[in-house]
Amino acid sequence: MDRIVVVGGGLAGGRTVVELREQGFSGAITLVGAEEHRPYDRPPLSKAVLSGRTDDTTLPFDLDGVELLLGRHATGLRPGVLETDGGPIEFDGLVLATGAAPVRLPGSADQRVLRTIDDARALRETLRPGARLVVVGAGWIGAEVATHAAAHEVAVTVVEAGASPLLALGPVVGGHTVPWYAAAGIDLRLGAAVAQIRSDGVELAGGEFLPADAVVVGVGVRPDVSWLESSGLQLDRGVVVDEWMSAVPGADAGGAGGYRPGSVVGAGDCTAWWSRRYERRMRVEHWECAQESPRVAVATLLRTLAGGQPSSESPDDIYNPVPYFWSQQFGRMIQFAGLPGPDSTLVLRGDPTAVAPPGAKKAPGWSAGWFAPDGRLVALATVARPLDMVAGRRMLLADAAPDVAKFSDLDIALKEL
Ligand code: FAD
Repeated sequence: MDRIVVVGGGLAGGRTVVELREQGFSGAITLVGAEEHRPYDRPPLSKAVLSGRTDDTTLPFDLDGVELLLGRHATGLRPGVLETDGGPIEFDGLVLATGAAPVRLPGSADQRVLRTIDDARALRETLRPGARLVVVGAGWIGAEVATHAAAHEVAVTVVEAGASPLLALGPVVGGHTVPWYAAAGIDLRLGAAVAQIRSDGVELAGGEFLPADAVVVGVGVRPDVSWLESSGLQLDRGVVVDEWMSAVPGADAGGAGGYRPGSVVGAGDCTAWWSRRYERRMRVEHWECAQESPRVAVATLLRTLAGGQPSSESPDDIYNPVPYFWSQQFGRMIQFAGLPGPDSTLVLRGDPTAVAPPGAKKAPGWSAGWFAPDGRLVALATVARPLDMVAGRRMLLADAAPDVAKFSDLDIALKEL
């Protein structure tokens, strides 16, 4: 009987187990997870656990019959054997799903991050009314933590090294979120470099000291793959996998490095996958990648274990998404899909500076599209306009080239273009 070992007990690891059963694997499955928790969902940590709206985000995966090794760390890998801090585990097939870990800044060990449910519960205890919080980084996590804290009477300062928040969306779109901070009573410091994080606050490069009861660092994540350094697999800020999510042996490993091609696959945040759509390697630390990529990884693994080729030209067997992400901040739902290029032109749809009309609770939403020189829509950001995103994602998948004048007209539904 074949044994498949899944390393990493997050969304991608849990989804992998579900896919293994749904795709007909009846052999033994072992799930090795460093956290003591069963797979749980991370987006609600900043959106609902911090506020106390929920305390449990466990995912409803059926793990019956799965050997669960929780609180167990994978420490190394060689062909057919996973090394862990509880001893070696042999496998016929292996799924790498160890996710990503937050980047920490030099300085005090007291700096906090928000990645795990334990981080969220501990932070919730600190963010009491009257507390002082400094958030380093006005990216997705920083903005969501600041949103929560400001709404709970915490005095919040956000320190961002760049010229605007949400730099992933570029300075124009990110810049339109600046007033949201002031409206929430947050002191936003743009272009501010951190010199040192201390246990009692943050020292800025210019010498100013920002006292704090808690410092949360939200400056991005790095795929959690350092434990694979001597595995012979190729690493490049993530486990290098091909379009079938099959791990690629390193050049110095010689041949397949002893690994049967297709017998080690990756899924979720820990992977750097080859995109046929964009003809480049992608690293997308987003929920949807962890949700969807296990289907392809498992199909590849099961094809291989059945004696077939890891590669397959069926479009269903290739992981080829348009990346998608959402965030909730300052009472707004932001969604983003696609990949802007350096030569893209930004077109706004609606007025980001518009205020709520009399009698209305909220300002109308707005969107922003990035257009390639040949007229194709290549990326879309929406603020409180979910229907734009539904239609826009279809356009992105279809490589559509909507009329720009009509795109910018809020009175014309995107689905009509
Ligand atoms: P992870 O969820 O990181 O799971 C990996 C697991 O592997 C972890 O439990 C880790 O402890 C374990 N592990 C690591 N190393 C080892 C090892 N050596 N041995 C054994 N186990 C190991 N995405 C969105 O698209 N929208 C959102 O709104 C959004 N909000 C978010 C809010 C927060 C607070 C956070 C933290 C993330 C958010 N994300 C969001 C990102 C999304 O949650 C991740 O992309 C997703 O969780 C990735 O799943 P994963 O299984 O690949 O990795």
